[in-house]
Amino acid sequence: MRWDRIIKAVHREVEPILGKGKVASYIPALANVDPKYFALVLTTLDGKSYATGQADIPFSSQSISKVFMLTLALEAWGGRLWKRVGREPSGSSFNSIAQLEYEQGVPRNPFINAGALAVTDAVISKAGERGALDDMLTLVRRASQSDRVRINPDVAQSERQWGHRNTSLAHFMKSFGVIENDVDQVLNTYFCQCALETTATELSRAGIYLANAGKLPHTDEKITRAERATRINALMMTCGHYDMSGDFAFRVGLPGKSGVGGGILCIIPGVGSLCAWSPPLNAAGNSLAGTRALELFARRADINVFKRR
Ligand code: GLU
Repeated sequence: MRWDRIIKAVHREVEPILGKGKVASYIPALANVDPKYFALVLTTLDGKSYATGQADIPFSSQSISKVFMLTLALEAWGGRLWKRVGREPSGSSFNSIAQLEYEQGVPRNPFINAGALAVTDAVISKAGERGALDDMLTLVRRASQSDRVRINPDVAQSERQWGHRNTSLAHFMKSFGVIENDVDQVLNTYFCQCALETTATELSRAGIYLANAGKLPHTDEKITRAERATRINALMMTCGHYDMSGDFAFRVGLPGKSGVGGGILCIIPGVGSLCAWSPPLNAAGNSLAGTRALELFARRADINVFKRR
């Protein structure tokens, strides 16, 4: 099978760099993971998954959860969401506060931490604090077809304990009136969503609606409108890797969203959804070997959204 061959070949090729980079260390739950773990999983629109490595070991999805919260926020608010958060690459680090001051507390995009807090706030305004998290979990469980997907309570607690930067971002935005709800509620939901725990197989399945015009291929259930799926993909391409988003687009040529747990969700519109996982990160907080694996995959499969097909 072609996909199997490509995935296995990519695994062999990244083997020498596994362990290179720095595992996120701001909370113990992330720091203690084996830096040599690696997984690459492709789920195609016919529902088949092709996997290599530790594809069934749960890990912390972290910022990849921002994709699912954004989907819910767009469903709830449509285009009005863009009053609270922008759509421009930030060019600064994932947890930067600087830009907020001169842009009246409106974050540059939904995938930096400040933007994700604004998105979570928007979902809470419609669904309530508990509802926002439940809706995200339901979405990921349904799309991944796995009830094992959960919010890891220890990771959520650590996020809370070490979340000083996120706490200041939220309060700063509240001072501009950009955050609508109680700041503690927004932060609590954000810390829990970061603690979303999935395997690489589950995550590759969870993203499939973005490759399939907003629908789950196995049930035909509509998660979001086709047009919104396209726009989420555009944002993943332009903003999904913080201040290395341009580099990811250049090297991989596919929409992707990284998390500091070392996962990357990558969408191939019309084909499928990929998850790469390798915990050590590059300087911008994106999986070092995961990025390389996706670059090699795209090259071997000859898939790139900028290329004539
Ligand atoms: N929990 C991390 C934070 O809020 C998420 C960052 C990431 O995954 O990139 O800082």
